[in-house]
Amino acid sequence: MDRYQSEFAFELRTCRWVERHWPPDVDESAGGDRAIVVARQLGTKRRRWDTIVLECDADALRERARFGAKRLDGDLRHVVRNAPAEWTYYRDCLPHPGYSWRYVREAIHEADDRGVLDVRKSGNRIEIRRKWPYPEQWVDRVVAIENKPDLDASAARALGTQLEYDVALGLADEVWVATRKTGDRVEPALFEDLPVEAGILALEPETLAGEVAWYPRSLAVDEPGTRITERPTGGRRDDSAARFEYVDPENKRETRLGIAERAYERGWRSFVETMRPDCRHFELRARAGTQLEPYCAEKERCPTAAECSGNCAEYEPEPPAWRTRAWPIEGGPGKRIQQLLADRRRRRRPGL
Ligand code: SF4
Repeated sequence: MDRYQSEFAFELRTCRWVERHWPPDVDESAGGDRAIVVARQLGTKRRRWDTIVLECDADALRERARFGAKRLDGDLRHVVRNAPAEWTYYRDCLPHPGYSWRYVREAIHEADDRGVLDVRKSGNRIEIRRKWPYPEQWVDRVVAIENKPDLDASAARALGTQLEYDVALGLADEVWVATRKTGDRVEPALFEDLPVEAGILALEPETLAGEVAWYPRSLAVDEPGTRITERPTGGRRDDSAARFEYVDPENKRETRLGIAERAYERGWRSFVETMRPDCRHFELRARAGTQLEPYCAEKERCPTAAECSGNCAEYEPEPPAWRTRAWPIEGGPGKRIQQLLADRRRRRRPGL
């Protein structure tokens, strides 16, 4: 069986390719002041993307690293962004958040615990002072990639609807489809009914050779977006109109930043957090000496994230004796595996 048959295995290869080669067609020796962060399975309540690429300014990314590896959620961002350079009573410097001050106080205490804000008591009053300015522009661009190794007509139809949603909303700067490279003169994905705004990346997962089959258009992230909330089914008796709602640019900007913060925290190696590395059959296999891929010794292949869960009939806990020894990469116990992947994620966050 093709080891990258499943979308999950293919998705991990796409993430790896992106980590090494993004942006496509740019001279890699140019290096310089750009940096990228890759994550997977993130988005909004209504739409989750397979792979997310954050294109960042390298210096700004280092400034973001001062705030730690964990995400800053909306409440924390409200506090660290508005904290002044001098000690001030928090209600005098923070704009009213539009919700109870109680949540603001909780966020202040959390920021204090994390060491990203100076906090002191003056009588009954909580005073705050910023440690560093929050780098508002640490993310320049957000790119979303959908992975479909086998893009047949029906897969393209389903994907087309999702991509139309992305294009209308304009939350990501670019949307792409990554599909398996066929080697044909014209990639078959180009004949499928996908929005012209979406780019197509033809990827050979085994060798990690990628080629742009179609370049995307940049989406209008700074303009109001249109969220498609309902579509007519398109049947003969259905003459209803699609329903939309508008999303203002400020709302989009905050949503993008929220996604970026989560992407920064999770990265793409977080797959191990939803799998069972504590199963005795779970292994991390080094691919081409570098990429660590999950492998199930029982199934003799990369398991999907859904398979490798608490419902797996073949799950067997690792023997307690394993936990007392230092194991090598392949076949190691769960904790060591998690640590290894966390270390790799950390290495991709300059300044941490
Ligand atoms: S046997 Fe099941 S739980 Fe264990 S590694 Fe394989 S897929 Fe995961």
